[in-house]
Amino acid sequence: MESLMKLLLWDIDGTLICSGRAGEHALIRAMKLEFGVDLTIDPRDLAGRTDTYFFGRSLKRHGLSDDLEAIHSLIDVYLTHLPEELPKRPGKTLGGILPLLEQLADREDIAQGLLTGNIEKGAQLKLQHFDFWKFFPFGAFANDSHLRNELGPHAIRRASDFHQFEFTPAHTFIIGDTPYDIECGKVIGANTIAVATGAYSIEELESHHPTAVFPDFNDPTSFLNLINN
Ligand SMILES: [Mg+2]
Repeated sequence: MESLMKLLLWDIDGTLICSGRAGEHALIRAMKLEFGVDLTIDPRDLAGRTDTYFFGRSLKRHGLSDDLEAIHSLIDVYLTHLPEELPKRPGKTLGGILPLLEQLADREDIAQGLLTGNIEKGAQLKLQHFDFWKFFPFGAFANDSHLRNELGPHAIRRASDFHQFEFTPAHTFIIGDTPYDIECGKVIGANTIAVATGAYSIEELESHHPTAVFPDFNDPTSFLNLINN
């Protein structure tokens, strides 16, 4: 019998890394350059949202057109600023993540990909900055939908194509730092793992009833037991 593979789908910001608000500063610069607008960002508004959703909302909030063309020209400018902002900001990889990713990458029964609200190129720039891009050969991104809840099926399809294995939601774990990550896993019937290294506390995340909540991944024993079951 073919051995069963598990699929881990990781969020980026607040889960794998903290970019030191590099993304926010790149967006603020893009809004100023493109539209002459001074954008203020509440990190809690941004957390868990897709770039396309949040960029559109930022445009609308300032009375600007939020059609696809406007959003994509804003994204283009954002992507030119992001590589400059990343080294300027006090970003970091989050607690315990690097050894955990390395350990999981060595396992043949585990597939790892991304499920992130970042636009794909932005995800690549952020993760390359921390040398994490190499861990994730596929993913679902804001390019696929501006609604995070629609990203799960895209990620599972890409995982199945890449590994030539039919992944099911029952063997999929969606890992993220916000209630939106939990929700987008639940809508497809996947397992959901919340981690309190981002904008939400353990108690706040627990109130959304994920499969499990962890403070961070410094001691990954319980996390590994869960995915091994
Ligand atoms: Mg996040």
